[in-house]
Amino acid sequence: MRATVPTRVLILGGGFGGVYTAVNLERILERELTRGEVEIALVSRDNYLTFQPMLPEVVSGSIGILDTITPIRRLCPRTDLYTRAIEEVDLGRRRVTLASGVGPRQLHLEYDHLVIALGNVTSFAGQPGLAEHALPFKYLGDALTLRNHAIHALEEADIERDPRARGGLLTFVVAGGGFSGVEAVAELNDFVRSAARSFRNIRPEEISVVLLHAGDLILPELPKDLAGFAQRLLMKRGVEVRLNARLAGATAEAALLKNGERVETRTLVSTVPGGPNPVVAAIPCPKDRGRIVTDLHLEVPGHAGVWAVGDCALVTDAATGEVSPPTAQHAVREGRCAAENIAAAIRGTAKRAFAFRALGKMGSLGHRSAVAQVFGLKLSGFLAWWLWRTVYLMKLPGLDRKLRVAVDWTLDLLLPSDIVQLRTDRAVSIRREHFEAGQAIFREGDHGDWLYIIEDGQVEVRKAISGQGETPIRRLGPGDCFGEIALLGDHVRTASTHSLTSANVLAIDRDACQALLSTLPPLRDFFNRLLEERVGMRPESSDAHLSDEVASPITQEAAR
Ligand SMILES: Cc1cc2nc3c(=O)[nH]c(=O)nc-3n(C[C@H](O)[C@H](O)[C@H](O)COP(=O)(O)OP(=O)(O)OC[C@H]3O[C@@H](n4cnc5c(N)ncnc54)[C@H](O)[C@@H]3O)c2cc1C
Repeated sequence: MRATVPTRVLILGGGFGGVYTAVNLERILERELTRGEVEIALVSRDNYLTFQPMLPEVVSGSIGILDTITPIRRLCPRTDLYTRAIEEVDLGRRRVTLASGVGPRQLHLEYDHLVIALGNVTSFAGQPGLAEHALPFKYLGDALTLRNHAIHALEEADIERDPRARGGLLTFVVAGGGFSGVEAVAELNDFVRSAARSFRNIRPEEISVVLLHAGDLILPELPKDLAGFAQRLLMKRGVEVRLNARLAGATAEAALLKNGERVETRTLVSTVPGGPNPVVAAIPCPKDRGRIVTDLHLEVPGHAGVWAVGDCALVTDAATGEVSPPTAQHAVREGRCAAENIAAAIRGTAKRAFAFRALGKMGSLGHRSAVAQVFGLKLSGFLAWWLWRTVYLMKLPGLDRKLRVAVDWTLDLLLPSDIVQLRTDRAVSIRREHFEAGQAIFREGDHGDWLYIIEDGQVEVRKAISGQGETPIRRLGPGDCFGEIALLGDHVRTASTHSLTSANVLAIDRDACQALLSTLPPLRDFFNRLLEERVGMRPESSDAHLSDEVASPITQEAAR
């Protein structure tokens, strides 16, 4: 009998779990889709599936930027795709709210079956400065940002004369000794060392690539002998592997370790496991360590028609009784099982319990070397690398992508590393920064291009006074701002500032400041009063100098 109202299956997330649920649903429910008895919709922030296992190669440029992603519309052409952010999942009303798109209106989607496949997110909670200064490594944008950042650091180092600043620019730190951290550090190490050959003023021995790992041997997922092989190989290639080193925070200039050590660096990548997706965290359903608990059929207990797969789901394997690990291999199989069980629920047939034995584990170490444990066999070196490439090439979705990657890999054997720095970032107008106690925020003579507002912590303003050295002139705390004198007067800093305690600040750039001042008269008045007040607080001996530093009260015209 032809259904008058189609059954609506709504999938949240365009990663391996979500996309492979849709791909399998289209295959299994082909007849129902053709008759209009079922509708499938998928919501994802991006309109493509990212093949994460190959992301590290985007950093080194050994494959093209777009080769690790595949358009979702091509993989599941009978699914309606909503490229929007999900804001809320209301299990009671069986409704999902999507953020507004180009217009201001939100969208509400109702469902009969809901598949939650939102993965996890890189979480820097509880680690001061990481959100502001560490680079995550999960999506294509992250790999591109890291590549551009590394090239920028080489460009800056090439013209930097101060040895300490050079050291920070030429030190590249990756935190996390699991698969993604090891693969990222291996590619980054190969890339910066080969790219540096194109820079006249950088000597190879100045480059330092560091892997921070909290345990006493990297790759804890692998047998000890394979992990040991990988660790020795990385060290032989010049990676400094720091064991029992836990990342605890960061500033713009350093990675801060739990044992109190600092590693001076301008490039810090964190691959430390992520936290729960905030949308998932807000769904009121059973969870364990942030993951949605499912029954053996991948359905959420107590919520008929709600399913969860992939990294955001806690799935117990029916054969082993063990919790499935958060890997693409499992997300793909869970997607297939969820699709079969949704089809069974629609057709009124029996569901199957999820069971999957992982085929193996592989990690690339760059330079035609890898480690692998496949079907119980342990492989390392070139053979493991060849297997790694063959397996991932086969698994990469889409024939066009396979061809492109195969060509890129061949050319990469013959051509030198590309060092073009693509500028993808939008102009920053406001950002957060973290400073540790005693750190200089800016110094006298620096260009005055940012205004700072203290969120928490204490900051001291100091002025060089002849015969007395650097003298404290002001102490500031939460809610106070600083840096306005040089910024509004459009000249260099005439005082320096240091954080007295660990401090978080908001930094606003010149353009944003001027836009705010020219449109908000009360703010302009506030800064005029502040400038007058601060002139009045200047120490006697520095009068002449300070009067230069202070801008005349801001007029509307000047602010424009
Ligand atoms: C660098 C790296 C290398 C890896 N290598 C391997 C490997 O070699 N082998 C392996 O098996 N696994 C590997 N993994 C792990 C694997 O990638 C994950 O286990 C897998 O991607 C999980 O799939 P998922 O669908 O659950 O989540 P994800 O792939 O994280 O997908 C989540 C989806 O939800 C979307 N989303 C999230 N929040 C929202 C929102 N609010 N609104 C709209 N959309 C949203 C995201 O955009 C994304 O499309 C690697 C991971 C990384 C980071």
